[in-house]
Amino acid sequence: MSFIKHGVLLAAVFLLTQPTYAGDRDARRTAEAIEDTALADGWAYDFLRALSSQVGPRLAGTPAMARGLDFSEAQLKALSLDDVHREPFPMTAWLRGPESAAILDPAPQELVIAGLGGSIATPASGITAPIALFPRYADLLAAAPGSLSGKIAVVTERMTRAADSTNYRSVNPMRRAGPSEAAKRGAVAYLLRSLGTDSHRLAHAGALDYEPDVPRIPAAALSGPDADQLERLAANGNVRLKLVLRPRIDPNAHSANLVAEIKGRERPDEIVLIGAHLDSWDLGTGAVDDGIGVAIVTGAARLIQRLPVHPKRTLRLVLFGAEEMEFSGAAYAAAHASEAPHIVLAAESDFGIGPVERAAIPQGAAQTEFGHDLHRALRRLDAELDDAPALYSGSDVHPLHKLGVPLALLRQNGLTYFDIHHSADDTFDKVDPNALRQCVAAWAAFAYLAAENDIDFRKNTP
Ligand SMILES: [Zn+2]
Repeated sequence: MSFIKHGVLLAAVFLLTQPTYAGDRDARRTAEAIEDTALADGWAYDFLRALSSQVGPRLAGTPAMARGLDFSEAQLKALSLDDVHREPFPMTAWLRGPESAAILDPAPQELVIAGLGGSIATPASGITAPIALFPRYADLLAAAPGSLSGKIAVVTERMTRAADSTNYRSVNPMRRAGPSEAAKRGAVAYLLRSLGTDSHRLAHAGALDYEPDVPRIPAAALSGPDADQLERLAANGNVRLKLVLRPRIDPNAHSANLVAEIKGRERPDEIVLIGAHLDSWDLGTGAVDDGIGVAIVTGAARLIQRLPVHPKRTLRLVLFGAEEMEFSGAAYAAAHASEAPHIVLAAESDFGIGPVERAAIPQGAAQTEFGHDLHRALRRLDAELDDAPALYSGSDVHPLHKLGVPLALLRQNGLTYFDIHHSADDTFDKVDPNALRQCVAAWAAFAYLAAENDIDFRKNTP
C-alpha cells in the first residue's frame, strides 16, 4: 500500500517539476499496451508452427535454408515492414551424410551418434580402432602427446542442468576444441558425450573448430546412454569401435541475412537492432533453436509496426542465416562496419523455450528513465532487470559488439533447453505457447522503449 502511495506521490512530483515527463509516461503506457496485446496474441505461435512444418530443418547453405529464407521473406513482406531484403554471403556448408558407429569388441552393438558440424569424413569403409576413454575432458588434455596413437579418443564428461548457459559454456570446448586436442595426442577419431542434459538415446549435433596446423580427424557426439555404455565396458577392459562418417563439405555454398525495418519517425538513422537465427541443425525441425527466437523478434516487430505512431528510432529486424556454422554474424558485421556507430543497441534471441526471467542492458542504463520504464514493463511479466550490464547477447551480434555496439540481453529460463538443444527432439511440440507469448511481450516492450528514447547507450553514465 505504502508503495502505491509513494508511486503516486513521486509521479505527482515529477509532473510538477518535469514538463517532459508526460511524454515518457505515454511511452510507458504504450509499452504496457503492447505487452497486453502480446499476451493475448497467437501470431508468433502460428508463425512458428508454419515455419517448423512447412519448411522444417534449415541447415545453412542448403536448399532447405533457401526455402526458409523464401518463407520468411514472404512473411515479413506480408507484415508491411519497411525495406525487406536479403544480404547474401558466401559460406562453407557441411552436409550430413550416412553415419554410424558400432562396438565390435567385447560385445557387438550399434551406437547412436551425430557427426559434428565441420567434421571431415572417414574412409567409406570407416575407421576401426580401440578406444581411449576419458571421464573428464581435463583428463584428455592431461594425456601426453602421442599417447592416443591409433586410438579413438572418447570423452564422457556430463553436462548438468542450469537455468542459464553457464554449464553449456563450460563443456563447450569439449566439442569445439576436443577433436584437435585429441589429434595432437595421436588419436585417429574423436567421440564425445553429447552436450545435452536429457537421458534420451539421442545425439546432439553442434559444430567443431579444427585448429590450424593440426591433423583433422573425424568427430561425432554420442547419445548419453551410449556414452554410459562405453564407460561400463571400458571399465572391464579393451573396447574396439567402428566409426563411419560420410559428410560432404561444400566450400562454395551461400546463405543470407534477412533484414526488415520499421523506420524511425524522428531519428531514422539511429538503429535498434533485434535479431535471431533462421538457420538450424538438421536433426530436428529447428522449432526451438532458433525458430522460437525468430518468432519472438518477428512477433515483437509486428506489434511495433502496428502502432499508430512508430518509435523515434529505427527498429531493425535481422534474421541471421548461418549462426550454427558461425558465418552470419561475421558477415553482418563486415557488411555494416561503417554503420556500426549508428547502431545504438543490439540484442539477439537464442535461448529456447522458457519465459524471459531477467534482462540486462548497457552499463549505467538501468539507472536511467529508460531502465526504470523497462524494469516496470518487465515486472508486469514477472521478469527483473539486472544492474550488471549485458556483455553478451548471442553469437550473431557479438561481432557488432566488438565494433562498439552496446548490447542488451533478455534471458529466458533455460533449465530444460539443453534436453533438446541440437537434437532430433527440437520439434514444435516442445514450444510452450504461454512462454512464447510472454517472450514476445517482453521483447516488444524492450524494443519499443529502446527505440522511443534518446539515451546514448555508448556513454557509461546514467
Ligand atoms: Zn541457436
